[in-house]
Amino acid sequence: MPTLDQGSVPASEQLFARAKAVTPGGVNSPVRAFNAVGGTPRFMREAKGAWLTDVDDNRYVDLVCSWGPMLLGHAHPEVQAAVQAAVARGTSYGTPTVPEVELAEEIVARTPVEEIRLVSSGTEATMSAIRLARGFTGRDVVIKFAGCYHGHVDALLASAGSGLATFAVPGTPGVPASSTELTLVLPYNDRAAVEAAFAEHGERIACLITEAAPGNMGVVPPGSVDGRGFNGFLAEICRRHGALFISDEVMTGFRATREGAWGLDGKHEGWTPDLMTFGKVMGGGFPAAAFGGRAEVMQTLSPVGPVYQAGTLSGNPVATTAGLATLRLATDEVYAHIASAAETVKAATSEALTRAGVAHVVQAAGTMFSVFFTDTPVTDFATASTTDVAAYAAFFHAMLARGVYLPPSAYEAWFLSSAHDDDAIGAILAALPEAAQAAAE
Ligand code: PLP
Repeated sequence: MPTLDQGSVPASEQLFARAKAVTPGGVNSPVRAFNAVGGTPRFMREAKGAWLTDVDDNRYVDLVCSWGPMLLGHAHPEVQAAVQAAVARGTSYGTPTVPEVELAEEIVARTPVEEIRLVSSGTEATMSAIRLARGFTGRDVVIKFAGCYHGHVDALLASAGSGLATFAVPGTPGVPASSTELTLVLPYNDRAAVEAAFAEHGERIACLITEAAPGNMGVVPPGSVDGRGFNGFLAEICRRHGALFISDEVMTGFRATREGAWGLDGKHEGWTPDLMTFGKVMGGGFPAAAFGGRAEVMQTLSPVGPVYQAGTLSGNPVATTAGLATLRLATDEVYAHIASAAETVKAATSEALTRAGVAHVVQAAGTMFSVFFTDTPVTDFATASTTDVAAYAAFFHAMLARGVYLPPSAYEAWFLSSAHDDDAIGAILAALPEAAQAAAE
């Protein structure tokens, strides 16, 4: 493994030690611990625009954007003003409010969903969508794809069983076998595997859930066969078998395009998911998420229908105000800016890695992209797993030492924002050649 260029971060080191004494691994979400790249996680004290500042006063251009939500960059003045005004009016009422209606209207206007229910995290959204699908269809089996992450829902923390159409085994201790024994895990982009699963279990399948364009194994776009996209194929096979098609847009929603990943395929191909899940951008940096879909399905939900779902802080007025302000400011110009910045960063990264002789594959879904350190075309979890994680760790630390904060794992999407201006992009481009060299060593 190449030597890591870690820099000197005494204040982060001290905080990490304190954090580890009171919190498992010192973090409140595992990937933040830097386990995949080694070294000390940077404790940030401030974020503004495209930049993060850590407790040692180092500045970094942020290519994580809070794992996706910060589409407009950090501390956007108009979002901040809206949030401050909302806080001044009180922070949680436990009653219906204006901003939650307006946020729901904004999401319904941008996507094919007819009705929406707000929750507080992406995990809650996918968990609730699956319960609803099971309640609506009266069936119990769920299909998911290896490498797709839908939050830490028990039934979805599953690894593939020993055969293609065999039921899954828990992907972590703490999940009982009974929670995953109704989950089928299939290889992504594999139409034959999906057909085989429906042929064998079709009558029992309540729903198939997929990331609209997977970003949690790095970005792996849905493939196209004879002009027919993978998601369109999934929507059709689900419809034919009376199962619901759930498109998880927690990461891609209002990020890949203005209409999410659906804006890349379904909108043009003429299909709509039965249910969709959203999170990240729609919360504007606060805990807000949602699931929604066809009115007929959503009407099965309590208090109209029998499927129970609830939340003390669901539709929280501060979170929904932040999300609404973010979406209203997310104009076509914002997406065009991010798309163009993404093109620049992708091209420069590829050029630097090529010059340094580092094998890599750059893949994108709309404005979301990632770089795999492999020479194998990446179409599913097995091919994504060929990535050279040691080379990525060296690249990551060399970028970090030069003031660029990449995701601390080789299997993540890179995110930009409308605040990534020439300065920020310039800092990324300047760091790339030496970082590519570090990856080559
Ligand atoms: N679904 C997808 C596609 C995600 O990327 C994530 C989180 O990264 C989730 C669901 C879970 O969301 P949360 O972390 O808000 O629970």
